[in-house]
Amino acid sequence: MSQFLTLEEVQQKCHQLSDVYVIDENKFYMIVEKWADQTSSTEEKVLASFTELLQAVSDEISSMEEKVQMESTCRLGCAFCCYFPIIINEMEAKIMKKAIEQFPEQRKNKINVHLRSYYEKHGEKLKKITSLDFEEDEEFKKKYRKSFIPCPLLDIKTNQCMAYEIRPIPCRTYVNYTDPAVCEQNLMPKETVSFEFLYEQYMGALNEFMQFLYEEDDTAYIRYPDDLFTHDYIANWMLSFRA
Ligand code: SF4
Repeated sequence: MSQFLTLEEVQQKCHQLSDVYVIDENKFYMIVEKWADQTSSTEEKVLASFTELLQAVSDEISSMEEKVQMESTCRLGCAFCCYFPIIINEMEAKIMKKAIEQFPEQRKNKINVHLRSYYEKHGEKLKKITSLDFEEDEEFKKKYRKSFIPCPLLDIKTNQCMAYEIRPIPCRTYVNYTDPAVCEQNLMPKETVSFEFLYEQYMGALNEFMQFLYEEDDTAYIRYPDDLFTHDYIANWMLSFRA
C-alpha cells in the first residue's frame, strides 16, 4: 500500500481544515509592530520584518498540517516548481535584493556569478517568455513552463534555491502531499495544495508597515504605495538588480 495520501484524502483534510483552523492573523501584525518600535535603520526594519513575515507564512502552513496530520512530500532537491513563472511585486524584489546583498561575501558572489551566466545563457529566451502577459493571458503559466527555463535563483546542479530563506510567497504556498512522483511524471507541480490565501495576512501586515514608514516620512528606498502595485517576473527583477 502506498505510504502517500491520495488526492482525495488530501482534499478531505483541506476541507476539514476550514472547520478546525483559524489563521492567527495577529501574529503577522505583531511582527511589524515589533519592528516599528525598533531604533534600527528603515532598511534593516523592512528586511527583518519581511523575513519574519515569510517565516510566519511557513509556520502557519506547518500548524495547519499538524492540525489535520498532513505531511508535505516536497523534498530538498525537487525543483519542478522552480520552472514555473514566479511573479512578485517591486517591494518584495527590492527587499530580496537587499537580503542577498547582506549574505556572506562568498554566498553573495556565488549568486552574482550564477546570475551573470544565467542571463548570458537564457537572456534571449527570457525576453520572449517574460513578455507573456500574466494579467491577461490565462495560459501564461503553461506557455512559460514549456520553455523549461529555471528560476534565476535555482542552482541547477543541486536543484536547490540559492536564497531559500527569503524565497517569496509563491514558492512557499504550493505544497504537495501526494506521491511526489506525480510532479516528476508531469514535469510540473501536480496535485499541490495552495496556501496562497495567506498572502492576505502577509501583505496586509507588510503594507501596514510601509504605510507607517511612509507617514513617518522614512520610506528610504521603498516607493510607497507604487512598489506594492508593480508586479513582474522574478527573472526580470533579478536582471534589473544584477550586480
Ligand atoms: S525563488 Fe527559489 S524556491 Fe522560488 S522558484 Fe526561485 S529557486 Fe525556486
